[in-house]
Amino acid sequence: MTVELIDCMGTDVSVVNAARVSFGKQRDVMSDADVRLLHYLAREGHWSPFAHAVLSLRITAPIFVARQLAKHQVGLAWNEISRRYVDDAPDFYAPGIGDWRHRPVDSIKQGSGERLPDDVAAAADAAYHTALAAAEVGYRVLLALGVAPEQARAVLPLATLTTWIWTGSLYAFARVCRLRLDAHAQAETAEVATAIDRIARRHFPHAWGALFTECAATDQAR
Ligand SMILES: Cc1cc2nc3c(=O)[nH]c(=O)nc-3n(C[C@H](O)[C@H](O)[C@H](O)COP(=O)(O)OP(=O)(O)OC[C@H]3O[C@@H](n4cnc5c(N)ncnc54)[C@H](O)[C@@H]3O)c2cc1C
Repeated sequence: MTVELIDCMGTDVSVVNAARVSFGKQRDVMSDADVRLLHYLAREGHWSPFAHAVLSLRITAPIFVARQLAKHQVGLAWNEISRRYVDDAPDFYAPGIGDWRHRPVDSIKQGSGERLPDDVAAAADAAYHTALAAAEVGYRVLLALGVAPEQARAVLPLATLTTWIWTGSLYAFARVCRLRLDAHAQAETAEVATAIDRIARRHFPHAWGALFTECAATDQAR
């Protein structure tokens, strides 16, 4: 899985200036008062100043992760590679041998439980790769028969890697990351959220920090 920054518009000061324009004011550098302002804006749900800062990302992840992330829509634009037009050999996501998890024991809401013991993980890994190989063979056979890629792709599994460009406001990406870094989120999806969090924190340390500190309590979507 990869998350690459394509473009970035704005800084912490852009968010501050979007708020301070109400009073005809403009800053060039952040002050302590501006940091407090960012926290106030986030706390009170004044989202629009945070929408003047934008990130554009190129993400490659398995379809099952992309499908979860595509549920986040407000403030975000998504364009994805199409296997209607592309029939390259597919790449598949595969967990590391130590990453196989048991199904949850107590709560169905928790998607997975403890790490599988090594011998079971090895068997799971073998079964997984056998299934991927069979799917890839089926895909190749269909293409060789002249089947349209848009139909042949139906045999490809959710592990198939897909690539999309995801552009959106800082506010929208902060919502994505708060929800997908939560303990209930799937680990593989959290991996993408962690990478987005790292990029956003580097470029917007104060605004991103305010959105995380102040908005967590107001998140409702689960
Ligand atoms: C851990 C976890 C488990 C999940 N499990 C499932 C699942 O089992 N099945 C499933 O289908 N989805 C599931 N989801 C997806 C979830 O229901 C949301 O669709 C997803 O988190 C996107 O939320 P968002 O707030 O970013 O949505 P967006 O659609 O981007 O909306 C952003 C915000 O705009 C507002 N908004 C958007 N649309 C409306 C509207 N029509 N009316 C009023 N306000 C609106 C809401 O405040 C919303 O928070 C899960 C999400 C998480 C994080």
